[in-house]
Amino acid sequence: MSWFQVADSAPFGTGELPYGIYSGPGRPPQVGVAVGDQVIDLAGMWRDSGRDPAVFESPSLNAFLAQGASVWAQTRRLLQSALSEPSGRALLQPHLLPMRQVQLHLPIEVADYVDFYASADHAANVGRIFRPDGDPLTPNWSHMPIGYHGRAGTVVVSDSDVIRPQGQVKTAGDPSPSFGPSRKLDLEAELGWVVGVGSTPGHPVPVEAFNDHVFGVVILNDWSARDIQAWEYVPLGPFLGKSFATSISAWVLPLEALADATVEPPPRLTDLLPYLAIPSSGYDIDIAVEINGHRVSTCPYGRMYYTPAQMMAHLTVNGAQLRTGDLYGSGTISGPAPEQRGSLLELSWNGSQPIDVGSDNTRTFLEDGDEVVLRAVSRGPAGARLGEVRGTIRPCLTS
Ligand code: MN
Repeated sequence: MSWFQVADSAPFGTGELPYGIYSGPGRPPQVGVAVGDQVIDLAGMWRDSGRDPAVFESPSLNAFLAQGASVWAQTRRLLQSALSEPSGRALLQPHLLPMRQVQLHLPIEVADYVDFYASADHAANVGRIFRPDGDPLTPNWSHMPIGYHGRAGTVVVSDSDVIRPQGQVKTAGDPSPSFGPSRKLDLEAELGWVVGVGSTPGHPVPVEAFNDHVFGVVILNDWSARDIQAWEYVPLGPFLGKSFATSISAWVLPLEALADATVEPPPRLTDLLPYLAIPSSGYDIDIAVEINGHRVSTCPYGRMYYTPAQMMAHLTVNGAQLRTGDLYGSGTISGPAPEQRGSLLELSWNGSQPIDVGSDNTRTFLEDGDEVVLRAVSRGPAGARLGEVRGTIRPCLTS
């Protein structure tokens, strides 16, 4: 029980306690924790209780994240006890601000951004669309989590507009490429894992060290221009079709809030090499995709073939180190059913089957003015909410 009353319309309860960066009224960007529809001013609370507020006065979470798992756990315990015990009320209540009065900012200073491809259903759908005569999964897929390096500098916080990219496009029937705004702008429903504690160059980080390095999770929309991607990606992978924008939720949910939502990953298709074969957990989280307020799919993260701990181990197995603020995406989350597909590429089968988006409208890919919202909730007994990531498509600046 808590003395804190959660409003029905609040985005969070008292169990999640996610971290973000807020500013105002009259305050510079700094660290806050969301509870219900309020933001806890951590620097103020720490100052008033005689603790050092320095890491919470920062405009990103990085300084706090670098402090490590024991500090993360202590901070969470302190907030939990202040919320549950009547004596904590005097300590915490003066430092609550209504969320509607503050502005939210990018929560982390993103170090490196990597995106994986960990859903078997997504990878098989993409294989069937682009390589109809070949095996849906490439030979390497069942042996390692495949990924690419994205662009850290264009990761933006929820509510940022996304400007339609332009670039080179060439379809099979065109004799030569043409230049213009993307006509196949897509979303990808994903989760993004946030690294708190870095590692040493040359020292791979094993699967078992996941909880020592990874702080938490955000909802991630990996905006993708399919027509630009299709022409550029052979032989070196995604580049300008992805690097124009990646949106993440404003609140980072700590792993501790997902302790009751862990699941076994699906059965292995083949024996994995030893560094990936160590048991680790997936997370039972559903991500709902809405276009202009109409739900088009619900994507089951619990079916992802590779766990976030395996992705972390693979990312460092060559000796590349982790850094505070590294962000790695899960890859598009799709399930086996059509209504579980996490991209319009799959939902519209590369534009061949328009989908219903409500109010007598259909879509193959995104149009200017479309608003995409991803919302996520864990399926454990506590049903932790991860919040949302929202973005609206704006026309090319030159069109
Ligand atoms: Mn992606």
